[in-house]
Amino acid sequence: MTTSIPVESRTATEVAPYGTLRNFVGGALVDVAGSTIPVHNPATGAVIAHVPMSGSSDLDAAVSAAQAALPAWRALTMKDRVQVLYRYRTLVEKHMDELSQLIVEEHGKVMAEARAEWLKVMELTEFACSLPQIATGSVMEVSRGVECRTERTPVGVVASIVPFNFPSMVPHWTIPNAIALGNTFILKPSEMVPLSAMRTAELLAEAGLPAGVFNVVHGGRETAEAICDHPGIGAVTFVGSTRGAQAVYRRATSNLKRALCLGGAKNHLIVLPDAEPEMTASNVTASMSGCSGQRCMAASVMLAVGGDSAMDGIVKDVVKHAKALVTGRDIGPVISEAARTRIEKYIDEAEAAGARILVDGRNAVVEGKEGGYYVGATVIDGVTPEMKIAQEEVFGPVLAILRTATLDDALSVENRSPYGNAAAVFTEKGSSARYVAEHATSGMIGVNVGVPVPREPFGFGGWGDSAYGTGEITGEASIEFWTRTRKTTTKWNRDAGTNWMS
Ligand code: NAD
Repeated sequence: MTTSIPVESRTATEVAPYGTLRNFVGGALVDVAGSTIPVHNPATGAVIAHVPMSGSSDLDAAVSAAQAALPAWRALTMKDRVQVLYRYRTLVEKHMDELSQLIVEEHGKVMAEARAEWLKVMELTEFACSLPQIATGSVMEVSRGVECRTERTPVGVVASIVPFNFPSMVPHWTIPNAIALGNTFILKPSEMVPLSAMRTAELLAEAGLPAGVFNVVHGGRETAEAICDHPGIGAVTFVGSTRGAQAVYRRATSNLKRALCLGGAKNHLIVLPDAEPEMTASNVTASMSGCSGQRCMAASVMLAVGGDSAMDGIVKDVVKHAKALVTGRDIGPVISEAARTRIEKYIDEAEAAGARILVDGRNAVVEGKEGGYYVGATVIDGVTPEMKIAQEEVFGPVLAILRTATLDDALSVENRSPYGNAAAVFTEKGSSARYVAEHATSGMIGVNVGVPVPREPFGFGGWGDSAYGTGEITGEASIEFWTRTRKTTTKWNRDAGTNWMS
């Protein structure tokens, strides 16, 4: 098949294989010359599509289409522009089952997680629909008869480079806000999960988005580099590994573009002896195992504070919850064979360094899906700060438990991490929660919340090696990134007099 994803009433058997994908440029599917790479269903290992690696001429075509669409799109009022997004949100709701199934297929998520992604897409779109109420400018009479006015105008043609772990949510961190604010847009999906982006393009078109406002350019690293270099693109966002975030931030800003680049993570959950045991254990386990641990907000290290007697009960409960998770039913596969090998290596190395594997997810096999890339929930106790598993991003359903005598010891482990996406504390004491919130060096703090994602209208973003650039990628703080302010000073009143301004 060499077309887009068929729109309506597809079943699991009809959707595979998807053949060779095409770019979506100027409202139409266009062929890409050059090489392709296979896209695997991680639950089975089967090849479900081939994704093209776009070159700079393919990107040129998309930039030209976005430039052509810009004047008319920018000229609409914001209230008019968001009408498309109201309709798009309704279409997402209408197609929820089919869209979720697509994520199950291209990413391997279990159905509940795939649905949660599209529900989040709806929330992100709803926020963009509210932008006309909040992204207003301002005006003031600064001296008699003289008025200063600021108003928001779009940056122009903008682009987002996105990771594999949320095929629809992460692209929607930027798509709705950027286009509601009058920009035209190029999405480079992850080459590992390129299918949901095509349905997004189709549904936006069905919702009435004019051709060229939203474009999809498939590819990998070289395509992303071409985006950083293209003089027709004014702003770039990146979400992915820290290595990629650094590369894109450096390259895009050296080409004098705006850039906001979110990187990897190593999230610490601090558990204090007064934590509510059952809630803590279930939250910690859900945080480390949800989406197979492939979340930039996933719990990676549990810092168990206090003597062993205080913590043994909670650790036992975490083990109980982790053992109850059925691989293949509750935990989907990780994204690739390479990811599985990498994750299992971290576990092997921790074991060899003296850590104790309390729940072992290595060599997981799911009946009927023997070709899938499964790693079961894994809990490792006795981890020390110098172990690799305590320092590096594992990005799998693995919890490293590191015991510390005091809260300050726990915070010093968290503070030494170069990452700074999320940290959480589990306690029933307000002063301890406040102490952690003040002293952790992460951008997003959870208090009795294992996955502390700020929801709209609050902005998402970490510190340190988890994010480069200013502002946030979602919420109100993203308005600044997607707009330029025009500052106009006006004097209509001839009697206004003369001062230093005129
Ligand atoms: P990745 O960095 O390998 O790829 C991300 C995107 O960048 C892809 O589209 C890829 O084609 C492109 N890319 C890869 N290397 C590049 C380079 N050197 N220059 C330019 N582009 C490049 O990341 P991934 O494996 O797809 O995603 C997982 C990572 O993303 C994890 O580290 C995770 O923590 C991170 N992530 C972070 C956040 C956040 O909000 N901080 C959110 C989601 C995922």
